[in-house]
Amino acid sequence: MLEGVVKDKFERPILSLRITLTNRCNVNCLYCHHDGMVQSKDEMNAEELYTICKIAKKNGVKKIRLSGGEPLLKKDIVEIVEKINSLDFKDISMTTNGILLEKYAKPLKEAGLDRVNVSLDTLNRKTYEFIAKKDYLEDAKKGILKAVEVGLYPVKINMVIMKDINQNEIKDMFEFCRDNDIVLQLIELIESENCDNDKFSKDYHYKLDMVEERLSDIASDVRERKFMQGRKKYYIDGGEIEVVKPVDNATFCANCSRLRITPDGKIKPCLLRNDNLVELISHVRNGVSEEELEKIFITGINKREPYNS
Ligand code: SAM
Repeated sequence: MLEGVVKDKFERPILSLRITLTNRCNVNCLYCHHDGMVQSKDEMNAEELYTICKIAKKNGVKKIRLSGGEPLLKKDIVEIVEKINSLDFKDISMTTNGILLEKYAKPLKEAGLDRVNVSLDTLNRKTYEFIAKKDYLEDAKKGILKAVEVGLYPVKINMVIMKDINQNEIKDMFEFCRDNDIVLQLIELIESENCDNDKFSKDYHYKLDMVEERLSDIASDVRERKFMQGRKKYYIDGGEIEVVKPVDNATFCANCSRLRITPDGKIKPCLLRNDNLVELISHVRNGVSEEELEKIFITGINKREPYNS
């Protein structure tokens, strides 16, 4: 399985690439950590993304995840997936809020997208509006059901749990997921730079330990995902729930096999750092050779350092 895979200086294989396609978003979630962070003036197009993925593929990357901002705001999203798919990766997935998914699910599936994770924290319209500051709940639900219909399998719902906002909705969301053949991922809230950290954590943070205890009591089977920070999966009543809790930085880094690309085309070697980015897109745009681009890609890999090293 690790054939052709490049390892960093700490023997961690680089198996996946997460590309933040844009920082633009059509909602403004209360808790959002604004993945990608830098403001992108000049977003990458399908051809440029193809070149980057080609270099990644040549260096053993197996999986591509497309994210944002909101990736479906990219007008050329279908072409992007189509081009990346021509490189024959093992898995191409997308994280989306689902609002535009009803329109895009089928063309994306046909273009080669394998699966989607859709962020949806509530099935209650008022709560949705409180979290997202927009009234798009029905659009998101239609998008999710369309993704199931066209087979973007497994469709997963990412539900961030917040105290006094949606912690009482887990059962409803689970039933919606189970009834529609969707995997539910419960996500423990991470402190966000977007908000006043102290107040935000105090007001909304809800530890998922207790939820997990209850899940393990009622589950017919529990499995641990070894290469995913030991996340647990609970099988209940024909449905599936995965619990995503923050891990300490050292554990996170020890298990990290992912490289990232920022929306302005830089290699981001480490999720937790912004001081070791490597410029990539200007070299692609200047037409430098694939050989040179590969060297830059490897430079990005070599800059990876575990948190406590
Ligand atoms: N717009 C896309 C979406 O909504 O899925 C992709 C970007 S969004 C930032 C990616 C994921 O990060 C979502 O599943 C969201 O729930 C999660 N996320 C953002 N801020 C978070 C936080 N403070 N704690 C936990 N998860 C967070």
